[in-house]
Amino acid sequence: MARYTGPVCRLCRRDGLKLFLKGEKCFSGKCPVEKRNFAPGQHGKDRRPKKVVGYALQLREKQKTRRIYGVLEAQFRGYFERAARQPGITGELLIRQLETRLDNVVFRCGFATSRAQARQLVRHGHIQVNGRKVNIPSFQVKPGATLAVRETARKFAPVLHARDMASHQGLPGWLEVDRDQFSGRVLSLPSREDAGLPVQEQMIVELYSK
Ligand code: SF4
Repeated sequence: MARYTGPVCRLCRRDGLKLFLKGEKCFSGKCPVEKRNFAPGQHGKDRRPKKVVGYALQLREKQKTRRIYGVLEAQFRGYFERAARQPGITGELLIRQLETRLDNVVFRCGFATSRAQARQLVRHGHIQVNGRKVNIPSFQVKPGATLAVRETARKFAPVLHARDMASHQGLPGWLEVDRDQFSGRVLSLPSREDAGLPVQEQMIVELYSK
């Protein structure tokens, strides 16, 4: 599946909040949201902040969610349609599908500092699921599945650095990680609270239900 390859910090500036798309830089003083917290573009500074309501709010929530997970519109729409066909709360089912993407699980386990880096690890064949190489970032990881960084990638400086960074951060309750063995296990499906996203998924449901 294709991915967005343009500048990412302007995506955060457009929404006026950190979407954590760049790994370590997001936690440093170099983050543009901290240094230049106004909309990107020539006239970004001059734009008066407007109250976002109605369609604009629905659109912003959808764009924000899509960008956090690095998914393009067509694939995101597919996730929504699958969620809408299942019994349950559509917004929560949508977030669950995004959370159980393999690239997101690798990121949540702390083997990459960003979802983009996790995606690259997956694409380059450095991740195994249940003992077999999987190089599809959108692969849905099921409860009970084990994943591991393959032997060759365990020496990579970005992987070691990500692991060190993650050792100071919390781990979602639906995952179990053995940092020394570069492996992890999915204990259960993630709940909405586990995702901890700054988005109102109900707005996305309203947008696509028109
Ligand atoms: Fe967003 Fe990270 Fe760039 Fe800050 S450094 S603007 S959080 S991607």
